[in-house]
Amino acid sequence: MNNETAAPVSVIGLGLMGRALAGAFLKAGHPTTVWNRTASKADHLISHGAQLAPTAADALKAGSLTIICLTDYEAMHELLGANDVTLEGTTLVNLTSGASAQAREAARLAEQRGARYLDGAIMAVPSGIGTAEAVILLSGAESDFDAHKPTLDALGTVTHLGADHGLASLYDVAGLAMMWSVLNAWLQGTAMLRTAGVDAATYAPFAQQIATGVATWLPGYAEQIDNGSFPAEVSALETDARAMAHLIEESETVGVNAELPRLIKAMADRAIAAGHGGEQYPVLIEEFVKPRVD
Ligand code: NAP
Repeated sequence: MNNETAAPVSVIGLGLMGRALAGAFLKAGHPTTVWNRTASKADHLISHGAQLAPTAADALKAGSLTIICLTDYEAMHELLGANDVTLEGTTLVNLTSGASAQAREAARLAEQRGARYLDGAIMAVPSGIGTAEAVILLSGAESDFDAHKPTLDALGTVTHLGADHGLASLYDVAGLAMMWSVLNAWLQGTAMLRTAGVDAATYAPFAQQIATGVATWLPGYAEQIDNGSFPAEVSALETDARAMAHLIEESETVGVNAELPRLIKAMADRAIAAGHGGEQYPVLIEEFVKPRVD
């Protein structure tokens, strides 16, 4: 792409991530205007062709698309809330991490001030930005996404999730839940096996195989959840609960932490007490959708 065809873009916030975002736009040939509270962080980008805007308001005026990537939403409101900052006519793409309610509120405020707004979550580290491995999730009006996708493509694999501005941050935390749950399960097994002299590297490929196998169950289980029907095709929850009791006992016997196994069984026990013992594992969604009740 060359500068005559590539759309201009502004980037506000040049921390570790913001610098990577601006760098990817420059690399793809987009005329790129940048602003950062600490101006010196723009030096490297300026030497690669970026324009430094004197104020955030000037960065917003420089083109019809502005990416914002700051520490948190408070910083964004502090910066864009000033009276002399015009948002009218621009599309803001906010890649600052935050909660779904913050995203929806930011969209409301931006739209009140005449801006279009997309909220995003970056599922990548700065070094991955600009490669297909960098997944950038975006939510907001599809027409806004479509209008700027050719520019946003410079950042990685950009995906539109839906019109609800809160979706990107919800997918973001859903991904974190998946990541930590898989890692904690692996650490539980690693701790138990270490008591028998098996090191983490020996167990890792076995654990990887289990995690990959379990992942293949998700589409079928998702169908059960979406249909609200949980026939025990593989095993019943009460059978699983007996295996959970065994996991707790074994953890305690070999002298490792049993908090995670106890949590797993406590949820299953509540579902069984509610009459779901004869159904299949994903019936536990009934426990996950409600706040903890003691
Ligand atoms: P960072 O290096 O700490 O940069 C933070 C940025 O926010 C800096 O540009 C900082 O300006 C600016 N800032 C903070 N408070 C401000 C205020 N009140 N007014 C104006 N500017 C303010 O953080 P980062 O790693 O770039 O992360 C930025 C966002 O991307 C975060 O929401 C983070 O969760 C998200 N993210 C990061 C990664 C990652 O791997 N780094 C991955 C995914 C998502 P100064 O330079 O002047 O301090």
